[in-house]
Amino acid sequence: MQKKADLHVHTTFSDSTFSPEEVIQYASKIGLDCIAICDHDVIDGIKPSLEAGEKYGVEIIPAIELTAEKQGSEIHMLGYYINWQDSAFQQKLARLCDQRVKRIYDMVDKLKTRGVNLDAQEVFKLSSKGSVGRLHLARALYKKGFIKTVDEAFKRYIGNGKSCYVGKISLTSEEAIDEIIKVKGIPVLAHPGVMGKDEFISSYVKHGLRGIEVYHTDHPPATARRYEEIAKRYSLLITGGSDCHGLGKGRVLMGTTTVPYELVEALKDAQR
Ligand code: AMP
Ligand code: ZN
Ligand code: FE
Ligand code: FE
Repeated sequence: MQKKADLHVHTTFSDSTFSPEEVIQYASKIGLDCIAICDHDVIDGIKPSLEAGEKYGVEIIPAIELTAEKQGSEIHMLGYYINWQDSAFQQKLARLCDQRVKRIYDMVDKLKTRGVNLDAQEVFKLSSKGSVGRLHLARALYKKGFIKTVDEAFKRYIGNGKSCYVGKISLTSEEAIDEIIKVKGIPVLAHPGVMGKDEFISSYVKHGLRGIEVYHTDHPPATARRYEEIAKRYSLLITGGSDCHGLGKGRVLMGTTTVPYELVEALKDAQR
């Protein structure tokens, strides 16, 4: 049978409800051969994932999803096969994570002005380690009964541009590409169909972008076709994954978007 990979999976070290062990156990249960651990701005989930991967016989790609911005738009940059043990890289990530904590307090303050009195500690209870973000905040709001669904938190309060949204002081997209290249990783533009800024792609390619996430939970077939074309035009590698957050977004998405193992081999060749 053809080997399958899901190249976009989160753990509890960012905003999934699944620990590395639970992620890999689930991957093994549904018959995935390979997954990439892509937590937001943090690498701490990689080591426990590699260990669990050994135990369950699932190949783990060390990766990251860096939050970045270009001209006021949020962009996510994936980095595959990063040298996650690099200490300068880890220090940079630690600063990004500190800023994420501060931003939660800022969003909690804004929510107060809208009559939503949430204690910031409720958010940190859900994150506990690694990087904290809006999905934790949304889940805390849900848990405390301020909203009926996690999605409602984004629509009413903390979605991009909404009244209680606070942006992250993040890297520029070009800096994100540079950081990934510095640790010998392969920079890949995450879910461009969600970000909606195709006009930036050519400049990313000039800056060293190597791939594009063509297949993704939020890319309908026509969107995936469009990015297949763009990948071909710029000779970019193609990746794809579910962007699974455990139960963080309601249902477990792992394995619902996969790519054939040949694309993993192409990533490996590119890294060499
Ligand atoms: P942050 O990195 O803190 O800005 O948070 C971004 C996270 O929020 C990502 O995991 C997104 O997938 C998630 N997110 C964004 N919009 C929604 C939504 N409408 N429902 C659930 N999760 C969302
Ligand atoms: Zn996330
Ligand atoms: Fe993302
Ligand atoms: Fe993601």
